[in-house]
Amino acid sequence: MNIDSNKELNDKTILRLITKYNTPVPRYTSYPTAVEFRPDFKENIFFKALSELNPENSISVYIHIPFCENRCLYCGCNVLVSRKREIADIYINYLIEEIKIKLESVKFKPKVSQLHFGGGTPNYLTLDLWKKLVKTLKESFIFNNDIEWSVELDPMACDINYLNTLQNLGINRVSFGVQDVNRKTQEAVNRIQDMNHINSLIDHCRKLKFDSVNIDFIYGLPHQTYESFKENIKWIDKYRPDRIAIFSYAHIPWIKKHQNKMPLEALTTPEEKLKIYLGVQKDLKKAGYRQIGMDHYALPEDPLSLAQEDYSLHRNFMGYTTQANLAMLAFGASSISEVNGVFAQNHNKLKAYKNSITEKKDWFEKGLERNEDDEKREEIIQSIMNNFRVNIKNFEKKWNVDFQKKYLKEYLKLKELSKEGLVNISNNEINVTELGRYIVRHIAKTFDAYRHEGEKIGFSKGI
Ligand code: SF4
Repeated sequence: MNIDSNKELNDKTILRLITKYNTPVPRYTSYPTAVEFRPDFKENIFFKALSELNPENSISVYIHIPFCENRCLYCGCNVLVSRKREIADIYINYLIEEIKIKLESVKFKPKVSQLHFGGGTPNYLTLDLWKKLVKTLKESFIFNNDIEWSVELDPMACDINYLNTLQNLGINRVSFGVQDVNRKTQEAVNRIQDMNHINSLIDHCRKLKFDSVNIDFIYGLPHQTYESFKENIKWIDKYRPDRIAIFSYAHIPWIKKHQNKMPLEALTTPEEKLKIYLGVQKDLKKAGYRQIGMDHYALPEDPLSLAQEDYSLHRNFMGYTTQANLAMLAFGASSISEVNGVFAQNHNKLKAYKNSITEKKDWFEKGLERNEDDEKREEIIQSIMNNFRVNIKNFEKKWNVDFQKKYLKEYLKLKELSKEGLVNISNNEINVTELGRYIVRHIAKTFDAYRHEGEKIGFSKGI
């Protein structure tokens, strides 16, 4: 099949392609992916990398709060559901201790240009706990003046006073999980949202002049159809969030048993899911949004849109970013640090996480040190995923290699994909076409040295 990438793509072609490639594939928030991390990883490798941080370079910091008050039935995260808020007091004491101990390996106060709180539900913390934690962070790091400081919030556990305090502490970006404005879907997934309350929060965020207000949605949930999803688009058009994420629901009830409690007969059919995916792309484009990667959208003046235009978009464990290759120090259960090509993931289970801090050893559940081949492939994969192109000449110059010779097998595979109209390859560049963007994770996979035909690893599907 030869498809001219300049031609208007028709839904039938896209549907056929997506159906063919809708198989499990990594999301490439890292390369190698977390599946490759090893439990026998030696923690001294991480602490050595930490001690070699360059004081001139700013870093990124991630704080993980694993608690939630209720369980959303679609949830695929590792969370601890509890209404006993006191558990967070104890957790924060451990987290503060973790920050202090790990930073003993760094002989200077690192400069931070990106700080993100994720979960779980970061607003599970009382405001007093926030103040305590932020005090430690400010004593431990130098916050750059233009720091991007963001937090994920459950809107139903948040009020105007909470937002005021977060802003006073210095937070300048907020992200709300809305998932669907439709009441029937909210009831089916045990996440009831009072839209009047959410609307007033968004209005208040605008008054507080946060740099960015982001909203998350999910498609593939019970009772959703393309028609019902249009309500979300209407809401987006009215409230104009700066960034929107529209994630595909991953149905994995053999791992997350609670997903079986949803009315499974009402789950969106695969055909309808595709209809939503394609329809939303067109609708958001019409509403003036730019698509960022596969499932994110941003207003044209947003830094992510501008970065995509000049091919400087990057991605890390926190999502898309304009800041390239920052070392990331992550604190809290299950969080993943990445320092100079060394990945280290904290323990998932709270007990093991706390033990590692009390005993100051056995810090990590697993980890990996990237080798030079990984580094080169990471550069190619990130370039495909974020900017839909690879500048072969620049790559050859940087790494002193003959691209075609070094990646002959991959090159031949790309040639095959080019016959389907998914990529264009010349001696200078690999370009993912408009059509290829629908399956960009599969195109990136061409360069993943760890993937093999027929392997059975539980990645989520491409759409
Ligand atoms: S708020 Fe998020 S992390 Fe918590 S249960 Fe719901 S989906 Fe999972």
